Amino acid sequence: MGLVVQKYGGSSVADAEGIKRVAKRIVDAKKNGHQVVVVVSAMGDTTDELIDLAEQVSPMPAGREFDMLLTAGERISMALLAMAIKNLGHEAQSFTGSQAGVITDSVHNKARIIDVTPGRIRTALDGGNIAIVAGFQGVSADSKDITTLGRGGSDTTAVALAAALDAEVCEIYTDVDGVFTADPRVVKKARKIDWISSEDMLELAASGSKVLLHRCVEYARRYNIPIHVRSSFSGLPGTWVSNEQPNGDEQVEHAIISGVAHDVSEAKITVVGVPDKPGEAAAIFRAIADAEINIDMIVQNVSAAATGLTDISFTLPKTEGHKAIDALEKAKAAIGFDSLRYDDQIGKISLVGAGMKTHPGVTASFFQALSDAGVNIELISTSEIRISVVTRQDDVNAAVVAVHTAFGLDSDSDEAVVYGGTGR
Ligand code: ASP
Ligand code: MG
Repeated sequence: MGLVVQKYGGSSVADAEGIKRVAKRIVDAKKNGHQVVVVVSAMGDTTDELIDLAEQVSPMPAGREFDMLLTAGERISMALLAMAIKNLGHEAQSFTGSQAGVITDSVHNKARIIDVTPGRIRTALDGGNIAIVAGFQGVSADSKDITTLGRGGSDTTAVALAAALDAEVCEIYTDVDGVFTADPRVVKKARKIDWISSEDMLELAASGSKVLLHRCVEYARRYNIPIHVRSSFSGLPGTWVSNEQPNGDEQVEHAIISGVAHDVSEAKITVVGVPDKPGEAAAIFRAIADAEINIDMIVQNVSAAATGLTDISFTLPKTEGHKAIDALEKAKAAIGFDSLRYDDQIGKISLVGAGMKTHPGVTASFFQALSDAGVNIELISTSEIRISVVTRQDDVNAAVVAVHTAFGLDSDSDEAVVYGGTGR
């Protein structure tokens, strides 16, 4: 029996009852002979509440202090969880990210892990303890200040510790039974996936699926750590995410389509009346890049012959909308466009699956399903294993349901149970 890392999200430890329930589950893993390391998130909506508080005292809180504040959320849950485990008669010790050896760069609010030195965790385990680690936080190698890894970062903490400790598996406990073929909050007939390749999972995460963070899957893929996503509320087996399909007599057939993801967190900017000559797109996207904004889809229209002008549209996170508009306005004279249009009422629907590389007709069926549902398409982008479209935000749910049905992904039973939480 090897070492397992288990991660529990905020909705699994939302109150004292939840903490006690999780403690029992952890003790069971220990009784089964595993060495257990647990990564825990802040209770319920604690992180959001702390952010609200910070904004009430300062519109632009200093990054260092903001991280000090937010990491308090995970300290509360880690200590309570250790107490609950001790109360069940087992030894447990809690550790902050810094104590656990999670070393990061010094970018506050979105630090990157650069090393993990889990000496104290090893010592605790060797002493027969269950080690509880505060998720989503680390310590900067340079400044020695406390950092956070960005929202939802506890998943990344868990995978990073699993890699550093050479764990058998990283179990991510959440409020649904695993990864589904669509968001079970939108598609009642979504089906639980037994196994999904890291490659497909990365595309789903990049396309808005919230069950696992892109960064966490990327880390797991790089270090070849199998992830088991499952519910802390049911005892059911969940979804395995790994580079290679697990071997065994129950070989799961590789699905053509893994799932349908959607995302309503993006906005669209259209740069109107751009001179159709070399260097214009470069100037636009240089201005955006210099503002440190990541963009997603890009479309350039055919220029109207008479005018020699074209429109360039792109999507970006809504949260970056103001910054992008400011950056483009500043560069307006140099770039020489007419005007800017900003639209935050868009949504994106993506179909993901490695099987589409070798199955013709997937694109046609996708567009047919959208057409049958009366959904108008504004932008299209594709990769080898994904097709994405932008539509009106109001059409997103209907579009996801239609595409899910059209690709035969609907389950016969209503197995998509949502046990709690808000989807993150
Ligand atoms: N508590 C942090 C958040 O809500 C980290 C996490 O949940 O993973 O973003
Ligand atoms: Mg959380």
